[in-house]
Amino acid sequence: MKIWANSGDSHIIEPMNLFDRLPDHIKERLPRTVKDPSGAFETIYVDGLEFKRELPQGPRKKKGFGGINARPIGTTDDDFITRVINGNDASHRLRDLDDEGVWGEVIYPGLGIWQFNIRTPEVARAGARVLNEFVAHFQSKSPRFVCCMTLPLADVDSAVAEIKWGREQGFLIAFLPVKPPAGRPEWHDDEWAPLWAAFEEAGMRIGFHIGTEPMAPNQRQGLYYRGPGGAVLNYVETTYGGQRAVTQLIACGALDRHPDLKVLVSEGGATWGPFLADRMDEGYRQHGAAVKPTLKRLPSQYLYEQVYASFQHDSSAVKACSAMGWQNVLWGSDYPHFEGTFGHTQKTLHELFDDVDPAVSRRIRIGAFQELFPSVPAPPAD
Ligand code: MN
Repeated sequence: MKIWANSGDSHIIEPMNLFDRLPDHIKERLPRTVKDPSGAFETIYVDGLEFKRELPQGPRKKKGFGGINARPIGTTDDDFITRVINGNDASHRLRDLDDEGVWGEVIYPGLGIWQFNIRTPEVARAGARVLNEFVAHFQSKSPRFVCCMTLPLADVDSAVAEIKWGREQGFLIAFLPVKPPAGRPEWHDDEWAPLWAAFEEAGMRIGFHIGTEPMAPNQRQGLYYRGPGGAVLNYVETTYGGQRAVTQLIACGALDRHPDLKVLVSEGGATWGPFLADRMDEGYRQHGAAVKPTLKRLPSQYLYEQVYASFQHDSSAVKACSAMGWQNVLWGSDYPHFEGTFGHTQKTLHELFDDVDPAVSRRIRIGAFQELFPSVPAPPAD
């Protein structure tokens, strides 16, 4: 029997030629990749910086780290390109979703994650607008597509202006990297306060996707550790950033000042939510003399009410809702990424939910997503 789920974690991988329409002096500073003739790695150029990314050798041994485009053993570049092209074709994508039993989707940008390496405001604005026009057009093809805006983060005023524009285009959510661009203060700093006000005023959600910390030049994407345990260490490392971002927004009072501001953390599991809530309350009470600003309620209450998390395979994530009482747990497919559930979504959904209280199952598969995006129509009955 097919069961349906909304996805709090999906992706679009934009064509690189989107930037071609921009003037040369801007285009040359936006992300572009050049493959090394050996095929072993590619170099990504962004705003005068260079980054290297190892390319999977296919059919290949998986390398010891998992970037967001990691591909399993046995898949080739062609498999990857086919999946990307199909995902960018709205009608093909909807057929894939129907086959898999996925209904609405939060769709994250691909090239947008490089915004955190753009330091020139004019370049950041032009690049974000091109990506946003592309996904606005894509989003218009189905009410099931909830595309994330990309924000120009080189300066806060540009980001606020883009949110105002995005609201007029019908965007419901904007992507933020889990950490601001290099050299800028972190999310708890007052510098970003206008951004939180703009999100709330626009009724737009914040979407943090794990693994989106700014990279330093010469740092390979997703590669923090080498040596024994490197693959697992690198994968787990990517999950901490979303937790840190949420802690910052709660501790600095942003969620207290903006009660309608809601935050989604995608692909990072869910049981961390109740754990962090306990830790924050402990700090808030036991170190109360040093706490600044004071909040109207305990930190845990902001987390339980205004923060949401999506997971794809983690069996403990269901218990964050059923056993720990965090209602804001969403499932996510990670489509079209190869580490997601494409091809085995029904199996995964049945394994996760068949033995779960139907109300909890429905909340995680459908209800929490609907609460964030009430304008998305409901899926067919199971
Ligand atoms: Mn994802």
